[in-house]
Amino acid sequence: MTRIDLHCHSTASDGTLTPADLVRAGAAAGLNVMAITDHDTTGGWAEAAEARPEGLSLVRGAELSCRWRGGKRWPIALHLLAYLFDPDEPRLAADLSRLRDDREQRAEQIVDLLRADGVPISWPEVHEYAAGGSVGRPHIAQALIRAGLVATTTEAFQSGWLGGRYFVPKSDLDVFEGVRAVRAAGGVPVFAHPRATKRGPVVPDSLVEELAEAGLFGLEADHEDHSPAERAEMRALAERLGLVVTGSSDFHGTHKTVRLGAFVTSPEAYEKIVAAATGVSVLG
Ligand code: AMP
Ligand code: FE
Ligand code: FE
Ligand code: ZN
Repeated sequence: MTRIDLHCHSTASDGTLTPADLVRAGAAAGLNVMAITDHDTTGGWAEAAEARPEGLSLVRGAELSCRWRGGKRWPIALHLLAYLFDPDEPRLAADLSRLRDDREQRAEQIVDLLRADGVPISWPEVHEYAAGGSVGRPHIAQALIRAGLVATTTEAFQSGWLGGRYFVPKSDLDVFEGVRAVRAAGGVPVFAHPRATKRGPVVPDSLVEELAEAGLFGLEADHEDHSPAERAEMRALAERLGLVVTGSSDFHGTHKTVRLGAFVTSPEAYEKIVAAATGVSVLG
């Protein structure tokens, strides 16, 4: 059986395994294909490629922080997985760079809000946890855990903390711009966890339809944040719109409990993604 996990994070963003340890862990977990998809960065690609064990195919990718302005009151945040794009394509590279800058500014704002309420954490501490990678709320959660204010990352995302009272939105990339930029760089865009309601409001099916017309290639139906009914809905929507269906763990190391390969993608869907990409090739 071919085991394909197309959504994994490393210390290049908010995962807890280095890119080298991530690919080794993928092979040890029995994966045949693994994608490295850090938030808004290709910073882990080289190390993952260098450490790739024999027998593991590596798909180089990223997860882009996007938003849709059509939400009734606020823009809705959504994530776009991008596979096998050319990292040197100037427009997408500039988009990614801006997204990482936004992340830093926003994390500093969150830290300022917390400090104003007397929470004993600091921006240098959070920045250190990010270790040169894309900064995210899990790094702030780590500081809150260190300060003894919450016990787990999940608790840090509750409404009294990073999920509400101290929530600051990122400015993010317009999702249509994201789809076009990924395609222009020869990459393949797949909508990550499109029904993950626990993270906030989700977009209507009509938007998915518009995105499909704009070049979206697939929907990540099988994800731990989807109920069985939501997985079935996403399959049906993908079928109706001619999109491929993927499944993946969204592994983050110890920042989450999900294990590598907890959800997988079919070889057929994987082959279609690879065939549609013209940016960089699969390694191995
Ligand atoms: P950010 O990208 O800075 O907005 O932070 C979002 C990241 O935090 C996601 O990519 C997940 O890794 C993590 N995350 C989001 N919601 C939760 C949650 N409820 N519990 C734990 N981690 C979460
Ligand atoms: Fe994450
Ligand atoms: Fe995501
Ligand atoms: Zn992810």
